[in-house]
Amino acid sequence: MAGAREISPELVAAMTEWRRDFHRHPELGFQETRTSRLIAERLAGFGLEVHAGIGGTGVVGVLRRGSSNRAVGLRADIDALPITEKNDFAHRSATDGVMHACGHDGHTAMLLGAAKHLAGSETFDGTVVFIFQPAEEHGRGALAMIEDGLFERFGVDQVFGIHNMPGLPVGQLAVRTGPIMASEDNFEIVIHGAGGHASAPQNTVDPIVIAAEVVLALQTIVARGFGPSDAVVVSATEITTDGVRNVIPSTAWIRGDVRTFVPAHQQRVEALMRRIAAGVCAAHGATCEVEYANSFVPTVNTAEATDLVVRAARGALGDGNVDPDCRPIGGAEDFARMLAVRDGCFAFLGNGGDAGQGRGLHGQYYDFNDDALAPGAAYWIGLVEAALPAR
Ligand SMILES: [Zn+2]
Ligand SMILES: [Zn+2]
Repeated sequence: MAGAREISPELVAAMTEWRRDFHRHPELGFQETRTSRLIAERLAGFGLEVHAGIGGTGVVGVLRRGSSNRAVGLRADIDALPITEKNDFAHRSATDGVMHACGHDGHTAMLLGAAKHLAGSETFDGTVVFIFQPAEEHGRGALAMIEDGLFERFGVDQVFGIHNMPGLPVGQLAVRTGPIMASEDNFEIVIHGAGGHASAPQNTVDPIVIAAEVVLALQTIVARGFGPSDAVVVSATEITTDGVRNVIPSTAWIRGDVRTFVPAHQQRVEALMRRIAAGVCAAHGATCEVEYANSFVPTVNTAEATDLVVRAARGALGDGNVDPDCRPIGGAEDFARMLAVRDGCFAFLGNGGDAGQGRGLHGQYYDFNDDALAPGAAYWIGLVEAALPAR
């Protein structure tokens, strides 16, 4: 069994300091001005070519070696969440109501660490494009960078991303070919009835009763619209109306969330939802509008890029520390937008501990595990050496 790659204690100490500083100063999507300024300064300090302000607060660092035309993109997300931190350690958030509760502080620090190491090494041949992406949590930052010419300006053959995973032991990596994270769609169905006195339903078209029927009918989208091997979730998560206690309302709003792993399934859910909502409303003399937004596309890894990730991770972390066929996750990830236009792979890196009691991703007691910085940097360095082998 191959051993793990060692990262120097100096680099581990530097990454830990950067990580805790980012944690202490979290910034929301597209507002990461301090974060991106520090990233740009550090990349320039390592000797990289730096391009700031891509897709708003995004930053790109470019590192070239040798003569190969091959290029890979390594991406970290840099934004925090509108959550109030409940930890009380020294590096807890200094900004009320904003918190690095998803570990993007760690993703940023480990990619900076890999950049620093690679800037002082000759162990690869080609171009590494370090992509620091804003606004992952919104699901808008990847598209903002792509629309700002990310892949035209920095042509990369493949693009890679990583996310920490509480509950997966530190030093381990999990990945799979094909869909690894779900899509996320958000919908709103507005039902227009006719309100009136609660004692005189015969004079109304009650949108609450119709909404209840629509919510039940939506259950048939998964139960009868998909087969047993299709993983699809349709959840109505809110019903609101403009009524009061003694008034039958005139309007009801149903809002909700849909997860799939296949883009065609997103389209089928939307079509069935529109047909069901319109049909149920028509049956009761009401009308409706359906707004259906594709917030996140599914994250789909190609076989070629996943094989490379598995090989690199086995070299960097040790043979026994790589799961090449993990289960897909129902969460969604903005990096999927990059994989929709470039070959590549997204993997999970062990963050250790467990995900209970608010310590999981987006929990108020979450904290990125600094012990995962060295394995993360080792993986990135190994991936560059595997993707861009020195001659
Ligand atoms: Zn998150
Ligand atoms: Zn995240």
